[in-house]
Amino acid sequence: MRSLLLRCSVGYFLQSCGAFPAFRHKRVTQAAVHQLYLQKNMHYLTEERGRPNSHDYRIYFKTSEGKYISPFHDIPLFAGTELENDIPAKKTKKSHTEVLYNMVVEVPRWSNAKMEIATKEPLNPIKQDVKKGKLRYVANIFPHKGYIWNYGALPQTWEDPNHTDKNTACCGDNDPIDVCDIGSQVCHPGQVIQVKVLGILAMIDEGETDWKVIAINSEDPDAENLNSLEDVRKSRPGHLEATVEWFKKYKVPDGKPENTFGFGGKFQEKDFAVEIIQSTHEYWRALVLKQSASGDIECKNVSCCESPFKCSDEKASAVVQSAPAFNSGLPVSPDVDKWHFV
Ligand SMILES: [Mg+2]
Repeated sequence: MRSLLLRCSVGYFLQSCGAFPAFRHKRVTQAAVHQLYLQKNMHYLTEERGRPNSHDYRIYFKTSEGKYISPFHDIPLFAGTELENDIPAKKTKKSHTEVLYNMVVEVPRWSNAKMEIATKEPLNPIKQDVKKGKLRYVANIFPHKGYIWNYGALPQTWEDPNHTDKNTACCGDNDPIDVCDIGSQVCHPGQVIQVKVLGILAMIDEGETDWKVIAINSEDPDAENLNSLEDVRKSRPGHLEATVEWFKKYKVPDGKPENTFGFGGKFQEKDFAVEIIQSTHEYWRALVLKQSASGDIECKNVSCCESPFKCSDEKASAVVQSAPAFNSGLPVSPDVDKWHFV
């Protein structure tokens, strides 16, 4: 079975079936110096179902070979980190190659629709969040229009609601860990990009820990030169401050209190961010191995070999086929463009 899968030779099978190589990756992250990790990035496709801007709209994910997957469980956290011993290492300018993470983009920069991985639906498509029966749009907090980064999630991570974070004294928010990509490209929902992690913010949302990883698209022209929060401050003055302000106030127009933060709202550096990501990766691993109480989280996947939730390609395909067919979108209310001064 293993060798058959290895012959398929795609990054996501290797990573997901390789006995959950969390600890191997931990070593990689901490001591990646002097090793050359070749980038073998998978390309993912999406398939829209239902009508855009409606309650039934969904974005499902598949591999380039057309196999349906869950973006939550089947896309590897680490982007193409297989060590290729049999390929001669090319000399690079740097002594090491950066460890990159896959990011599933949910909300493009400058947009308002709160699109998110549906953690409680089979195969976890992206859908628009619904509050009080209405599609959810985040307010424009002056001077911002919608989200001020591409916003999304790191796959194969989970902020365990049964675990109290020692940094925040609050439980996890039951979602994959959130990421803000500060790159220049405006992405689209369902796009999978490779990001370089730069730091992290400990947001506390209604008593739950809700980490916000700060990262940059590895294809951004500035990515090579951004290696720390200090670099971000120099290159993009004001963006980190605006980020804290944004997260503090974005729910106020919806009648919610301001969000608060661990560490007094101070961003933590990259090494700390990597440790937090690693811990959420391990909580996810326990989740898909059914070693944690999963509650109503949907863990169906097609590639995590040791997971009792692994299903056949046919079963995965049936999930997508049962969703409504794609159709033309519905109009969006002009209220989405309203300014809020809070
Ligand atoms: Mg979250």
